[in-house]
Amino acid sequence: MKIAVMGAMPEEIAPILEKLETYLTIEYAGNKYYEGSYNGIDVVVAYSKIGKVFSTLTATTLIEHFGCEKLLFSGVAGAINSELKVGDLIVATKLSQHDLDITAFGHPYGYVPEGAVYVEANRELIDISKDVAQSLGKKVREGIIATGDQFVANEERKNWIGDTFGADALEMEGGSVAVVCDALNVPFFILRAISDAADMDASFSFDEFLETSAVESAEFVMKMLEVIATK
Ligand code: SAH
Repeated sequence: MKIAVMGAMPEEIAPILEKLETYLTIEYAGNKYYEGSYNGIDVVVAYSKIGKVFSTLTATTLIEHFGCEKLLFSGVAGAINSELKVGDLIVATKLSQHDLDITAFGHPYGYVPEGAVYVEANRELIDISKDVAQSLGKKVREGIIATGDQFVANEERKNWIGDTFGADALEMEGGSVAVVCDALNVPFFILRAISDAADMDASFSFDEFLETSAVESAEFVMKMLEVIATK
C-alpha cells in the first residue's frame, strides 16, 4: 500500500517530513516528491504549490506516476461557519469549486456538464478520522469545503460561498484534488485546520497562524496513517 500525503505549501508538509526518518527526494514535473515510509507504509509526500491547477497536477502525479492508492491532504483553510475557530480541524464530507461559473447557460454554480457540483470524500477514511479524534480527545468537525483560485478576505464573498454551497470552510486546493481522485478511483481525505475567518483580517490571521494550524492538521493526518497501517 502506497499512500500520498499532500499539502499545498511547504509549511503544510514540513511537519510531515519531520516524522519520516529518511526519505528520497525525486524531482518530477516541476516539483519535488519525497518518498519514504511511516510505520511500515510507503508514503509519497509533496506540496503542490497554491491553487487548483498546481494541486491537480500534483494529485495526478502522485497517483499516475508514483502509484499512490490513497490520498490524504493536510493543510489550512478559512472558516465560513462561525463555530470554527483558528486551530479547529475540519474534515471534508464533500467539496465543490466556488469559482466555477457557467450560470449564464442556466447551470448551477460549481457545475459543468459531465461534472458535479460536489465530489464526496471517502467515508471509510472519514470514519478513521473519527476514531483518531476520539483517541486524541480532539474535536473534528465534518463539513463541506468550497475551493477556488482566490484567497478570500471578504465577508460578502465568504457569506455568498457559504450560502451557495452550504460550505463550512474554504480553501484553494481540496476541490480539484477531489475531482482527480474521484476520476481515478482513489479514496481521498481532505483535512484542514483553520488559519483565518476569510474576512478582512484574513491575511494577518493567516500569517500568524499558518504554522501552528499546519502542525495541528499534519499531526492528525500522521495519526491516521498509524491507524491505516494496522488495517
Ligand atoms: N501567504 C501565501 C499565500 C497563501 S494563499 C503567500 O504569500 O505565498 C492561502 C493558502 O491557504 C491556500 O493554499 C489555501 O488553500 C489556504 N487558505 C487559508 N485561508 C484561506 C482563505 N481565507 N481563502 C482561501 N484560501 C485559504
